Amino acid sequence: MGALIAPPLSAQPTSTPTPGTTRAPAGLPSLGDAGDMTTLEERKLGDAIARELYRDPDYLDDPILGEYVDGVWRQLLAGAKARGELSPELEERFAWVVLMGRDRTINAFALPGGYFGLHTGLVGAVASRDELASVLAHEISHITQRHIARLMGQQTRQAPMMMAAMILGAIAASKNPQAGMALAVGGQAAAIQQQLNFSRDMEREADRIGYGVLGQSGFAPSGFVSMFEKLQAASRINDNGDWPYLRSHPLTTQRIADMQQRQQGQGRAATPPTDYEALLLAGRARVLGRPGVDVLRAWAAEPAQPGFDSQPLAKRAGALYAAAMAQAQLRDLPKAQALAAQLAHAVAGDARGLRQARLLQADLALQAGQPARALEWLPAKASGTASGALTGTGTGDAPAPPASSPISAAHGQAGRAALLMRAQALTATQRAGDAVSALQPWVSDHPQDAGAWQALSAAYGAQGQTLRALRAQGEVAMSRMDYAGAVDRWRAAQDFSRTQMGGGDLIEASIVDTRLRTAQAALRQQREDELKRR
Ligand SMILES: [Zn+2]
Repeated sequence: MGALIAPPLSAQPTSTPTPGTTRAPAGLPSLGDAGDMTTLEERKLGDAIARELYRDPDYLDDPILGEYVDGVWRQLLAGAKARGELSPELEERFAWVVLMGRDRTINAFALPGGYFGLHTGLVGAVASRDELASVLAHEISHITQRHIARLMGQQTRQAPMMMAAMILGAIAASKNPQAGMALAVGGQAAAIQQQLNFSRDMEREADRIGYGVLGQSGFAPSGFVSMFEKLQAASRINDNGDWPYLRSHPLTTQRIADMQQRQQGQGRAATPPTDYEALLLAGRARVLGRPGVDVLRAWAAEPAQPGFDSQPLAKRAGALYAAAMAQAQLRDLPKAQALAAQLAHAVAGDARGLRQARLLQADLALQAGQPARALEWLPAKASGTASGALTGTGTGDAPAPPASSPISAAHGQAGRAALLMRAQALTATQRAGDAVSALQPWVSDHPQDAGAWQALSAAYGAQGQTLRALRAQGEVAMSRMDYAGAVDRWRAAQDFSRTQMGGGDLIEASIVDTRLRTAQAALRQQREDELKRR
């Protein structure tokens, strides 16, 4: 669903900024207007929803897709900020986190508090970063325009936990449009879904502002147009149950007319160059969306079909990536690796495409139990470089935001995919110490990175550093706001520490004590909130 937030039935329409006026930060909708949720209330609600989504078995932390999507997301946030759409207050108070779900349906939705839900199906349906960015820019504008707070209004303030439950229920229902859930809940789900949609005016505003943010962020505005064309094509087919995004974002004639008018000012845009990276990662996203064994077999067999070699490279490249991934899922890793090598050869002339092919080769080597081979594809330096090495960000020409900003690269995932795979490979080749050295500076810059803490825990475990491994496991839970889990791990760490002769590692033990108190306080606060507002 594109819009998760309900207009309460009795809500008064709130004033919208006049379209077309120049908007300075001071002209943003004022925060905490009577009737609106405050930023802090909205963030709390978002945290409660995100906490549940992290526990959902379909939640996907795929370092390769995550790094790609996060790169687009951060570039857009920097553009929104430069354009004055994202105020410093909102930037600091909201989470600005993308949560990816394994789901073959095409959907994306803004959540309260700066969280953003994205289905693998949508990543699998776009042909360029510009197209992906157009959807994200629209949704970011729902968040920065405080559409969520405006819709929720004062009534729902009394019961944010109930609101969280409703939103989670609607997410679950939208996942499975044809099957049980919708039937079981029946008309109620449909009614909630209806309530959770933004108004048409808000959709038009998100289009207008999103279009500006897209251009400001260095993406081609033509991405908006080609994404609209995709949505139009899908809306013409009868069976578009795979496109929940279309249900929450109906393509009204007004939206299409607005878009055409915006384009007229642009002149005839040149056809953008083929975006091989987007095409390859679309293949990855489609396979990770669990399409079923029959589909996997068909994709795996595609490069062997007659006439495949005479197809355009753009078509072949995406098909080779999907075929390699599909073979890996079907547990034929030698075939998967041969296809990945073929892919690397085919896209050798495109730096970003080649980087993605190398990451795939490393990924497949790890899956095949060949960590030493994986290391051949993964260079040691995990910072962005100009040499076209794997670890570069590859996220285009947009200027990097200052390091002090919460949306700066230091908080983004550039280089994360190579780092995590390299750490895993090092740990598996008796070089856990090197894995620890690579991961420690990363978690100190990215203390909320559960995947990195997980890798660090494994490396400590391989070194026999039980106390540190337990401490890192507590950080995994903490990063996902699982405070009870964090308390459990850090209590175990304390117990372990007390059994050590001479007290063991005193510094680490005192860190554990401090972190345990933090987790206990967060857990108490969470339970109080739940009781107070149920
Ligand atoms: Zn929307």
